[in-house]
Amino acid sequence: MFEAIQPAPADPILGLTDAFKADPNPEKINLGVGVYQDANGKTPTLPSVAEAGRRLAAEAGSKSYLPITGSADYSAAVQGLMFGGDHEAVASGRAVTAHTPGGTGALRVTADFIRANLPTKRVWVTTPTWANHVPVFAAGGLEAKPFPYFDKATNGLAFDAAVEGLGEAEPGDAVLLHGCCHNPSGIDPTAEQWEQLADLAQQRGLLPVLDFAYQGFAEGLTEDAAGLRAFCRPGAELIVCNSFSKNFGLYCERVGGVTIVASDADRRRVVESQLKRSIRSNYSNPPAHGAQLVTTVLGDSALRQQWEGELASMRERINGMRSLLVAKLAEHGVPGDYSFIERQRGMFSFSGLTPDQVEALRERHSIYIVGSGRINVAGVTPTNIDQLCAAIGEVVG
Ligand code: PLP
Repeated sequence: MFEAIQPAPADPILGLTDAFKADPNPEKINLGVGVYQDANGKTPTLPSVAEAGRRLAAEAGSKSYLPITGSADYSAAVQGLMFGGDHEAVASGRAVTAHTPGGTGALRVTADFIRANLPTKRVWVTTPTWANHVPVFAAGGLEAKPFPYFDKATNGLAFDAAVEGLGEAEPGDAVLLHGCCHNPSGIDPTAEQWEQLADLAQQRGLLPVLDFAYQGFAEGLTEDAAGLRAFCRPGAELIVCNSFSKNFGLYCERVGGVTIVASDADRRRVVESQLKRSIRSNYSNPPAHGAQLVTTVLGDSALRQQWEGELASMRERINGMRSLLVAKLAEHGVPGDYSFIERQRGMFSFSGLTPDQVEALRERHSIYIVGSGRINVAGVTPTNIDQLCAAIGEVVG
């Protein structure tokens, strides 16, 4: 039966991690996979999360199943963090949140929900976008259509081209936008552009889907939610897929959520019943532990304050590395203007390195970067930055 099966290609990002692990060079640098690393190159458990873990262990609660959408406390915590606890969409009961296995789980549940319930079964995605978006949507039976987003000439947002591209979308189509810290470009719309995109979605009858995997990594928890809050107008419908992998460092716990905002609470009940159906036939109900950690931290004012401080440190370290990278590239005489790196936000930067240069960095310097030239800025440390900039200078020059 299995004789005719052909090997699948390695995942472009996770495959790179395998190659990095196999590299014996002690000076190797991994700027591939999107995992936060501290100044020592480690991905530690946040102290606030560790404390929540100790409290949960002491309680030794039940391991019985959760409801299909997860715990109600977790859903309320997610909505409060994303929209603000007193937001009309929360207070009116027109939003439903299901705890999903990570942000990827949220995206897949979204695809299943759209395929089962909406007419066009089509989603528009930015060019470029996270490497897993199109495969996840395709696996969920959606057709993905690209629209322009990144302007290579300015290293900025191709806003007019994006609006023009979305002009081809038909009523009922979904549009996937990155809530903040666009992956891979690091470029987000301004507040005014978010409003214009929300106008466009409303006028053309498009369903906004916000992928919100990095809340708190750009400017701050509230500031980073400006985009999705712009879409969440009275009566407006939208979907938000969030993840706590990065901002809580809970990568392996698989904790995220899908939030569907309906026009009113009655519609929400109908939508919720279909959402449950999509989840039941997929993984049935979510894993508890990661969500319990998040709920414990967000539900305790001292722990929450501590976590916000830890999140700010991660954000500030990344933004600090952005500035240092620009300065060090100049110091090492690397030709070109890299000031855009400082204007980008989140973990990623589109470095402008070509596939040949990326390959040369890997082969000659054991520096691992995704083929598109996307750099995980969180992999840069005060210790490896000179080695990195000298190597870039060598392959670019
Ligand atoms: N969406 C984007 C844009 C991401 O960058 C990632 C992770 O890299 C995800 C979703 C998925 O996050 P998770 O690890 O929680 O599935």
